[in-house]
Amino acid sequence: MNKITNHMPTAELQALDAAHHMHPFTDNSALAQKGARIMTAGKGVWLTDSEGHRIIDGMAGLWCVNIGYGRTSMGDVAKAQMDQLAYYNTFFQTSHVPAIALAAKIAELAPEGMNHIFFAGSGSEANDTNIRMVRRYWDIKGQPEKRIIIARLNGYHGSTMGGGSLGGMSGIHAHGGKIAGIVHIGEPNWWEQGGDMTPEAFGLMRAQELETMILQLGVENVGAFIGEPVQGAGGVIIPPSTYWPEIQRIVDKYGILLIADEVITGFGRTGNWFGSQTFGIKPHIMTIAKGLSSGYQPIGGSIVCDEVAEVMGSAGDFNHGYTYSGHPVAAAVALENLRILQEEKIIEHVQNVANPHLAKRWAELADHPLVGEAKLVGLMGSIALTPDKAHRAKFAAETGTVGYRCRERCFANDLIMRHVGDRMIISPPLVITPDEIDILVDRAKVSLDECYMGLKADGLMVSRG
Ligand SMILES: *Cc1c(COP(=O)(O)O)cnc(C)c1O
Repeated sequence: MNKITNHMPTAELQALDAAHHMHPFTDNSALAQKGARIMTAGKGVWLTDSEGHRIIDGMAGLWCVNIGYGRTSMGDVAKAQMDQLAYYNTFFQTSHVPAIALAAKIAELAPEGMNHIFFAGSGSEANDTNIRMVRRYWDIKGQPEKRIIIARLNGYHGSTMGGGSLGGMSGIHAHGGKIAGIVHIGEPNWWEQGGDMTPEAFGLMRAQELETMILQLGVENVGAFIGEPVQGAGGVIIPPSTYWPEIQRIVDKYGILLIADEVITGFGRTGNWFGSQTFGIKPHIMTIAKGLSSGYQPIGGSIVCDEVAEVMGSAGDFNHGYTYSGHPVAAAVALENLRILQEEKIIEHVQNVANPHLAKRWAELADHPLVGEAKLVGLMGSIALTPDKAHRAKFAAETGTVGYRCRERCFANDLIMRHVGDRMIISPPLVITPDEIDILVDRAKVSLDECYMGLKADGLMVSRG
């Protein structure tokens, strides 16, 4: 039996973690000095760590635990499926009930005309599938030169070679490079980049960069555009209202494929089943993962529209797939997650209860001296930290310094709120109650106060020159 348990002293667990565990997106030697915070249990929106703190999880893990922690029916379903049929593949003209049932269920929930699911193990894998599917689609249509995919700076589409290349994050490109045939246009981030323009004019301008790029590359070379309905890892950047309608107009005009990366925005996060519904987007392909299983099992996929699926099915094999595509245990667990979301009317709860209450409380933060704007859609929110809100100024200190300090204060106050640069973001479990929202916002206020006092004491409330 395993001797490493929750009952071991934290310091011993931290030492073992530091000795053997390479953390993703982490400075591992800095973490080894400090020691990781070790989570031991979860229930609802609450986490417990190895020191017995009760922490409110404002991030739903990594944007995924939509139904909340500690749902025992998820484990029951997993065990039953493991006992029944722990694994079988879906490659060689075989299938199984969990994959069939999950695909049918997703098709039922997805927008009209999106009836086909290609399963993957994660969001990154699903986006790799999308790159290959777009290129294969145009091959079959006799236009093999339509290989380029246009994406956005500061977008996030995962961290495999394909996903990391679609994403527009220079820090990721710097570590391992990026694959050919992907180009990036600007992001609709008005707070940071809008200058003197109105958000609406800025949103339009950023969308029109797509048209400029298509014309520059030649439409005969462009296969698709990919975007998150709301940029998540980029800082919860909710686009101006003009942005998506203009993107849609351009995609329609030039007949390229539109991929909506719904890995975060899918399964209720924005108050509808999909972010595409919230923003009126009509994609050909949607990437899904995270909320599909609420993180209880790793699973992702691509929801594909009828026309693309028909073309893909018209020319023999698509030489692509994963050992765990449609994994029966993951699929059964995802299906149980969708049952819970639907039967407990969790999306209606977001729309009618949680979002209205959080919207009211979140807006209060905009009055804080450290906060410029406070934005929210569904249960995805962000605040911009600034030394001078009238001018939407950046801090003189290196970007992220203040955000990191704020996150540390949140952590100390048993609130998980993440920072992206100097933006603070939340994405709590969708089951969060009004009382829990109050706790979340109250802890955020205390943390902002402490951060603000610290910045003043250290002379950091200074704008970049
Ligand atoms: C998290 C995320 C991904 C990557 O999903 P993984 O499961 O981590 O591979 C892709 N796209 C978006 C929008 C994401 O937020």
